[in-house]
Amino acid sequence: MELDCEGCAGCCVDWRPLDPAAAGSDRTGPRPPLDDVYDLAPLTRDEVARFVDDGLGDAVVPRLFEPAERDDSVRIDGVDLAAADGCPVFVVGLRKPPKPVAPIGTDDPRWLDACVFLDPTTLQCRIHDTDRYPDTCSSYPGHNLELGAETECERVEAAGGGDRLLDGGPPADLPAPAFGPQALGATVFAYPDPDDLDGVVARLRDGEATPDDRARFAGAAVGSRPGSLSVARERMAEARDRAREADSWVGAAIREWTDRAGADGARVALDGDARDRLAREVEDDAGAPGTPGWD
Ligand code: SF4
Ligand code: SF4
Repeated sequence: MELDCEGCAGCCVDWRPLDPAAAGSDRTGPRPPLDDVYDLAPLTRDEVARFVDDGLGDAVVPRLFEPAERDDSVRIDGVDLAAADGCPVFVVGLRKPPKPVAPIGTDDPRWLDACVFLDPTTLQCRIHDTDRYPDTCSSYPGHNLELGAETECERVEAAGGGDRLLDGGPPADLPAPAFGPQALGATVFAYPDPDDLDGVVARLRDGEATPDDRARFAGAAVGSRPGSLSVARERMAEARDRAREADSWVGAAIREWTDRAGADGARVALDGDARDRLAREVEDDAGAPGTPGWD
């Protein structure tokens, strides 16, 4: 597998407003997600735990799913959810606030939803090659290549974003896929208290989740046991409290970007230097780790 990621960030940014026909969708599988986030990268239980332990619990967000035809399901807030033993099934990913970015080979910055850890100026990942770098990101698009499924890199190429997938052989050291029976309690979790989710499900569907809503799922993920539906209650409660209290540079940057953002896909009304200064002010000066740039 060989990629040219410089100036791309196609798998970190929701670039649907740039080319809806070429972009993909998270809704193509048998269990469409409840939310409309693009390319949510599922985290493992241990990755969620690390973010929470490091005070970065405000970086993560849960995703619930509509049930497939023969799935167990549970109805909350008038919404049918995929479930296991009556408990809603979910994954946890990284939040995507609007940022001023020029991805997929463009040079005209727009307000597009982008991963919390994407440096909007260099289009590099702020946690690349650190112990926080998610397996899903480090192995992408290996699982797609193994399955013969379309990759984001090819979609970017179809949108005129340059040659991205230079060698399509899957890597030999792929981690376990994020979905499938082996993923239960490892990347796919079940929320153990469905009666507590009144109102929460509707807010998640509408992109209006509160810090408490997000924290309760982060807690349940951290308390989960790989290979089982059971949840360690004490570990769950501790992680939930810690996630709820998180007040990192990530949360501050998300609030700032959300306040400043134009409409989804709108051009950024700042020249290059002003945009770079703004990104430094909102992210780097608030404590975000730097990126080396592509040179
Ligand atoms: S963690 Fe890094 S590589 Fe993964 S989606 Fe976010 S910015 Fe992209
Ligand atoms: S879409 Fe492909 S080429 Fe583009 S940043 Fe992601 S992995 Fe790299």
